Amino acid sequence: MSIAVFPGSFDPLTNGHLDIIKRASGIFEKVIVGVGNNTSKAALFTPQEKMTLISTVVKDLPNVELAIMKGLTVQFMNEVGAKYIVRGLRNGKDFEYERDIAGMNSALADVETVLLLAKPENQNISSSMVKEIGSMGADNMVKFVPKAIVEALKERLNAQKSKIVLAVASLLVIVGIVVGVWPLNGYIESPGEADDLAQFVKIDGKKDTSKGQYRITSVYLSQANGFKYLQTKINPHLSYATAKEVTGGQSSATFSKVQDFYMQSAIANAEQVAFKKANKPITTKYRGIYVLSVSSKSYFKKSIKVGDTITAIDGHHYENSDSFIKYLANKSKGTKVTVDYTRYGKKGQATGDTIKLAGTKTAEYPNGRAGIGIVLTDNVAVTTTPKVSVNAGQIGGPSGGLMFTIKIYDQLTGDLLAKGRNISGTGTMSADGYVGEIGGIDKKIMAAKAAGSTVFFAPYVKPSKELLKYEEQHKTNYMLARDTAKKYAPKLKVIPVQTFDDVINYLQTGKVIKTTDSVK
Ligand code: ADP
Repeated sequence: MSIAVFPGSFDPLTNGHLDIIKRASGIFEKVIVGVGNNTSKAALFTPQEKMTLISTVVKDLPNVELAIMKGLTVQFMNEVGAKYIVRGLRNGKDFEYERDIAGMNSALADVETVLLLAKPENQNISSSMVKEIGSMGADNMVKFVPKAIVEALKERLNAQKSKIVLAVASLLVIVGIVVGVWPLNGYIESPGEADDLAQFVKIDGKKDTSKGQYRITSVYLSQANGFKYLQTKINPHLSYATAKEVTGGQSSATFSKVQDFYMQSAIANAEQVAFKKANKPITTKYRGIYVLSVSSKSYFKKSIKVGDTITAIDGHHYENSDSFIKYLANKSKGTKVTVDYTRYGKKGQATGDTIKLAGTKTAEYPNGRAGIGIVLTDNVAVTTTPKVSVNAGQIGGPSGGLMFTIKIYDQLTGDLLAKGRNISGTGTMSADGYVGEIGGIDKKIMAAKAAGSTVFFAPYVKPSKELLKYEEQHKTNYMLARDTAKKYAPKLKVIPVQTFDDVINYLQTGKVIKTTDSVK
């Protein structure tokens, strides 16, 4: 009996394949269609599925059988007792390929390859072309594929498409999540706490037990990421600030050291203002100049560190930073100077040249000032009777100054001012009693509201003409606080203050200072 095998991938079976099967079935007594599992191509159908599809097409050809074929064709032929391999030829390329395979097979076993020429109408049909035009939605697929296979093919191609869409979509979701939680080099500012100062301040070792409350308000900083950043676009009480805007480019360790110092210095100023106003004994000792930052142009950038306190320059001790600035201002650029400093309680000395300080030209210094290239502030030690101790916990920065001053003063003078009120506020306090502006006041209003405050002290510093020239829409701290309260905390009364006296006046008499809005 002449048995032939027609091996192929048939992924899917095309009209070209079917024609070869039919013609072979007219030549040989038995034709076995060997359904292969082509490993080099990503198959659309499993061999089993292909068998099912092909069987419906060849059911009217009694001498045609189907089999799944693994391994070499010649091995399979040996198993089924076939002597002939049938292959189809569409073009010269097929011929070259089939000739090589035929040569190999006849070298491997006693088999004969019979090549059947494709009919002209089938010469351009291939399984891969069928898949391609099918996936693009061609509707006259019956020209290329047996009718019984068209539907199965379309269905499979659609399923594959949605699988790809799903894969792309899930990839996008994963990318979205990664982008969303990836940390950004910046911070999210949100309303922090309005803490009752009674828990932080002790005078003569005693906590205050009066009914009223003075609250220090804070802004909460958290590391930003993509999701949190998006929240700032929706939630008006959240905002994003770059790391540079928050820390001024300092490392987080240096930044928190400086914030700590600011807090200590705010407390020292608060004690000075409160004790002077209360006519209680206080002495101050000038420790020196506290270094807030060192310029990259400074000759001292390696020897002096943020947090150092400079105690002398060229052996001269000063009583405040103004005298230190004056001593250096008129020196010519490149003059050698020696500074004494203390760092973590240890003394040190450094020598370097003076530099010209950028942006310091004034009437007094037409050529600008000389200096050593540091940003500085006074470091003052305060001793009081009775003794005040403040523990601000996690809170840093200078913005608690105003509220500390009120708290210390009222406790010191018999708790007459709060009158049971729940009072919040913010603002720096200078040693001579002036209130200064701070950042994030809108968030502090929300913190005060959450703590149930009804009064909020906000710094009012009248903007200079120069500032308004550059920033027409400039809002003073007071305005921003007032507008935020109007919108989100209508029960909170925002009181503008310029000095500590304004605070006392308001608490005693309810009198509010006059302000003018900078925006006309
Ligand atoms: P393979 O991966 O083994 O080439 P195919 O399914 O692509 O599997 O083809 C199987 C056989 O059918 C091959 O000999 C091929 O040349 C032949 N063939 C493919 N398409 C046609 C067609 N349109 N007309 C005639 N023969 C074809």
